[in-house]
Amino acid sequence: MPSLHTTVSVEALDQDLLCTNCEYNLRTLTPAQSCPECGHSVFETLQQQHLCNAPLPYLTTLRTAVTRLLITPLFYFGFFLIMIAHNTRIIPGNIYYIQATIILTLTPIQLFYLFAIFKLTTPHPYQPKHPNLIRTIRITAILVFTLSLLQHLISFVQFMPNVSYLPYLLFPLNLLNTFCNQLHTISALFFIAAFSLGSLLNTHRRPLRLIAKIMIPFTAIILLIRTLLITFLLFLAPTTGSFPPSFLILNYITMACTFGLLICYICILIYLFRFRRALSVLINNRSDSVNKLLTS
Ligand SMILES: [Zn+2]
Repeated sequence: MPSLHTTVSVEALDQDLLCTNCEYNLRTLTPAQSCPECGHSVFETLQQQHLCNAPLPYLTTLRTAVTRLLITPLFYFGFFLIMIAHNTRIIPGNIYYIQATIILTLTPIQLFYLFAIFKLTTPHPYQPKHPNLIRTIRITAILVFTLSLLQHLISFVQFMPNVSYLPYLLFPLNLLNTFCNQLHTISALFFIAAFSLGSLLNTHRRPLRLIAKIMIPFTAIILLIRTLLITFLLFLAPTTGSFPPSFLILNYITMACTFGLLICYICILIYLFRFRRALSVLINNRSDSVNKLLTS
């Protein structure tokens, strides 16, 4: 397994390598020294895996995975256009027809995303060493896929006679799905933020980690309020009737948090795009040096 600290001995660094803590260029420093900017040990930065040293095939695989993650929201946008068309009766159809459309369009999109996530987390020596994070990302991705499919199938049959209890199953399923989905996104963000480019500025690391941290309280509030509402709906509403007026405030808080999450998702796309662009620079630099070797 190629490892940087075994190949770079006690000699001074002869290549660009940015401090993992503050992005200062450590070139000409020795592993025994510390970063002049922040005092972070040069040896510790050297011990990390840096993508600038990763083999070309891994860089292209990683870029493909990131590209697929970036394309997925476009598919979802297409899906929402279809749903709007249904709701505004541009595309007519009964409830079964609409539910079938949802299953047939969402399942391939989710499968596409699932494959992208598995490609991103496929073990490789130059991947960040976070086995627990990788396990969480993969398990939650499968759970989200399964739970969504289950929800859609229940939505499909819930209007049939003799299955009146099924709609109630949708609430806890939806709650569990939201939990898995958010846990998945947050762990995936921490994982991508752990990638170090090495010789290039890591413009993605701090922002992605910050977005992940911002998403945690938003998610917690949404889950808490939804649990409250579902508990009320399932156990108290049948005896007391309608929601108390104070629940309206909870609704507004949920809406504000959902809006916050939406902003977070837009920021994720921006920084994921920047990460992809940095990968392209690494790939192009590598291709250039290979060409030079071939022509000389
Ligand atoms: Zn530093």
